[in-house]
Amino acid sequence: MKQIRPTTATIDLDAVRHNVRRLRELAGGAELCAVVKADAYGHGAVPVARAAVDAGASHLAIATVEEAGNLRLVGLRVPLLLFSEPPLDGVDGILAADITPSVSTIPFAEALAAAGRARGRAVPVHLAFDTGMGRVGVPHQDAAAFLAALPDDGLEVVGQWTHLARADEPGVDTTELQLDAFDDVRAHVAAARHRPALTHAANSAGVLGHPRSHLDMVRTGVAMYGLSPSAEMDAAQHRLRPVLSLSTQVRFVKQLRAGTGVSYGHRWHAPSDGWLATLPLGYADGVPRGLTNRWEVLHDGRRRPVVGTVTMDMVHVWFDDVEPAVGDEVALLGTQGDEQIRVEEWASILDTITYEITCGISARVPRRHVG
Ligand SMILES: *Cc1c(COP(=O)(O)O)cnc(C)c1O
Repeated sequence: MKQIRPTTATIDLDAVRHNVRRLRELAGGAELCAVVKADAYGHGAVPVARAAVDAGASHLAIATVEEAGNLRLVGLRVPLLLFSEPPLDGVDGILAADITPSVSTIPFAEALAAAGRARGRAVPVHLAFDTGMGRVGVPHQDAAAFLAALPDDGLEVVGQWTHLARADEPGVDTTELQLDAFDDVRAHVAAARHRPALTHAANSAGVLGHPRSHLDMVRTGVAMYGLSPSAEMDAAQHRLRPVLSLSTQVRFVKQLRAGTGVSYGHRWHAPSDGWLATLPLGYADGVPRGLTNRWEVLHDGRRRPVVGTVTMDMVHVWFDDVEPAVGDEVALLGTQGDEQIRVEEWASILDTITYEITCGISARVPRRHVG
């Protein structure tokens, strides 16, 4: 159906390509695995994956077996790394989509190995170790026992990895301790006569802040989208470019009397006579209600306050004595003239991380891919 609503998330694929090249440079030429889980953090997995591979990504990564579907269907052939183990009945889907699973339990390893033997070709896997993230993975203290229990045939260990818990916080020593533990793990893997071609540990924050974590490959999500991993690590400072912008148009304009209450709960009142515009998007589109009375948008290259409770489908902008027109372009995230509103600004207001903002832009918002 033709797009009628004026609200659009524009995804700049040139920026994706730029960021992939830039991250590889920052990672000293290590291979780059483009993390496109969660529909590429809300940016659209298929176009982002194509752009990333175009720009030199050697791998793609996903969080669920289901997320492989369209990537293979559109003809992407690079290895597709699955970060966590699915239930055992996910093995068929893994083989069907030629996914490279991460393995960290013996039952899953056995199920994969049995499938590998049945088809007469070993299943390539990456071993995932927990060196301090405290999430999934073989606990690093158990590496030797785990390796001893792995099936002898049906699997081929092509990679080994770990995940950093605090790489986005400059000045804590957790990352160094994790990398020390990972060195021990790697010695165990070698002693067990596996020869994984790829050893990897870095997420975006690892690339930006911890050269020791770069190893053979880096797994970048957030920085590839031009977003900062944390308030203490600014993507712009590393010459990464934001990929997503969010825009809409003024849909309704009216003049208010001083003191008029606006939106649910009347949590804002007009401070003077003036103009109020309604924008046709709200929390159902992924504009968090927590922004209420605390955020701004761009109109005509100027910041204007968004006032009153964020509703499901609409928000309100105060124009004071300037009369806007129905159809005027409004940028919620992005650039107009010399002004820019970054995802980081919303994240800071909401006391969250950039990841949560773009992942939260809902399916109701059409994505337009350019570049
Ligand atoms: C999501 C994820 C990444 C990517 O993290 P960013 O901070 O977005 O770069 C890397 N590795 C693993 C295991 C992940 O789950």
